[in-house]
Amino acid sequence: MPPEGRITRFAPSPTGPLHLGHAYAALVASQRAVAGRFLLRIEDIDQSRCRTEFEAQIYEDLRWLGLRWPEPVMRQSTRLPAYRAALEKLAALGVIYPCSCTRADIRAALSAPQEMAAVHGPDGLVYPGTCRARPMEQALPDDALRLNMRAALSHCGPLSFIETGPLHDALHPLDPDWMIENVGDVVLSRRDMGTSYHLSVVVDDAAQGITEVTRGDDLFEASFIHVLLQALLELPRPSYYHHKLIRDDSGKRLAKRDNARAIAQLRAEEASAQDIRLMLGL
Ligand code: GLU
Repeated sequence: MPPEGRITRFAPSPTGPLHLGHAYAALVASQRAVAGRFLLRIEDIDQSRCRTEFEAQIYEDLRWLGLRWPEPVMRQSTRLPAYRAALEKLAALGVIYPCSCTRADIRAALSAPQEMAAVHGPDGLVYPGTCRARPMEQALPDDALRLNMRAALSHCGPLSFIETGPLHDALHPLDPDWMIENVGDVVLSRRDMGTSYHLSVVVDDAAQGITEVTRGDDLFEASFIHVLLQALLELPRPSYYHHKLIRDDSGKRLAKRDNARAIAQLRAEEASAQDIRLMLGL
């Protein structure tokens, strides 16, 4: 995709102050769309952790960094009907099922002697499949919904995606065996949210017409799940640009709790937006 047609986004969750890592992600996204469109999306599906004051601070910090974006900003908390429609489509394909397992149930099932060894994949512990045979007609209001990975993969032909970032090869084929063993039956609708990160991000990247997803390299393997969901939902497939993660002086990845690296804190210490770009090597 030539830069003039590129549409990128920055998709923060308002669960804490923006720090240098977020600034880097936002600036990379806007640079990649320098001749195209840079969009903002607020990922606030986890209402127990999101706060409006963090959202307000995000807008303020990003403007201060010199970024501009079209209004209105997409907010995931207003998009539940779109996520529900996607789940209905997946249910019609027969690739999701209801699940009532708690984390403790999953750990117990995985420690039973006859079970497979516990595998920690990009989405956490690979689900042992306890509820896999349950039909959607028997879904209870408190159930989560999981993707039946094997059934989902068998619905699609060979899949791959294009990576445009500097950290990986350009072409990434999905290996179905790796997906089954290392990702497994991921949750697509959490009982407390009616959706999940993976489902929302795929539905919304398509709704916003994103042509290149730019984000931190910690989400590289999540892209495999997203590409599969795009195929099942017949959505266009963007290319992906995964960038390096910004680390603190001891080499640890920055987290929201590292207030010392919060943009608001650096502003209070009278850093300029240009100083931040220089600190980030941009
Ligand atoms: N909302 C996610 C985060 O704050 C980013 C998701 C994405 O870029 O796909 O980490």
